[in-house]
Amino acid sequence: MFAMCLTAAGKVLQPTDLPTPEPGPEQLLIRVLACGVCRTDLHVVDGELPNPKLPLVPGHEIVGTVVKKGEKVERFAIGDRVGVPWLGHTCGVCPYCRSGRENLCDRPAFTGYTLDGGYSEHTVADHSYCFALPAEYSDAEAAPLLCAGLIGYRSLVLAGDARRLGIYGFGAAAHIVAQVARSQGRAVYAFTRPGDHEAQEFARSLGAVWAGGSDETPPEELDAAIIFAPVGALVPAALRAVAKGGIVVCGGIHMSDIPALPYRLLWGERVVRSVANLTRRDGEEFLALAPRVPVRTEVQVFPLAEANEALRRLREGELRGAAVLVP
Ligand SMILES: [Zn+2]
Ligand SMILES: [Zn+2]
Repeated sequence: MFAMCLTAAGKVLQPTDLPTPEPGPEQLLIRVLACGVCRTDLHVVDGELPNPKLPLVPGHEIVGTVVKKGEKVERFAIGDRVGVPWLGHTCGVCPYCRSGRENLCDRPAFTGYTLDGGYSEHTVADHSYCFALPAEYSDAEAAPLLCAGLIGYRSLVLAGDARRLGIYGFGAAAHIVAQVARSQGRAVYAFTRPGDHEAQEFARSLGAVWAGGSDETPPEELDAAIIFAPVGALVPAALRAVAKGGIVVCGGIHMSDIPALPYRLLWGERVVRSVANLTRRDGEEFLALAPRVPVRTEVQVFPLAEANEALRRLREGELRGAAVLVP
């Protein structure tokens, strides 16, 4: 099978011919129909996350068809369309797993990071971490729901009942979260790279009441802000923008260092917190919610062999919505 492989951090992905894997007893063999390109893939490729499996097939927003299954799999049938997310396995016995917080598992495995992912014609995945997908979405449209959507949704939940919600970094996750937030009656304030008028226009087209540069002050104090851009300097900026008691949620897996900040920015019971991974419950909730909003995903489709170009455009901020690879 054809796959795009990472052989060492900091290198471009290599087109590779790999043997098609055999599913284990609990696994599905999946023919990949589409795989989203997430900022986390960029962090893995660039070596900003420690100890990836090498060589590695990246990609953790996988939409595919079950073509074969292990003997213990009962949930899915051959021919079913399934989604494979970032959370690939958890231990089930650590204190986090046993308290409903499997996203924080001590011994997890992650798709496209410590397990091979979906930048490939086929992949295997543990059936109990796969999702059924809403029929309303095409394969490419469904792919970004699986991480941008899920992690975005978890970030939104952790932002509490904020009515005025800031979103820093208006990429794949933000364009989904903005639609959910608006459907819940919240007002969305979108912050983009300074001068990125195209992204600001995109945010307004999705219902943002205000869009501007991350160096600008919004017209009203915010109740909460979610930071999707991997830029630590946005933490003090977001703290400045939120009202007393406001919550700043860091929604990415990696961020540049957060600069020193005066305590008065945190004072007034403001909260800074991160979001780590997802639980299967987040996935079930969000995938049921998305078609009801309805969330519409804007995707730019690339052939699998052009994965490096898709990653480059993500790095340069040249994408509108989400990039999706199609084998
Ligand atoms: Zn665990
Ligand atoms: Zn992701």
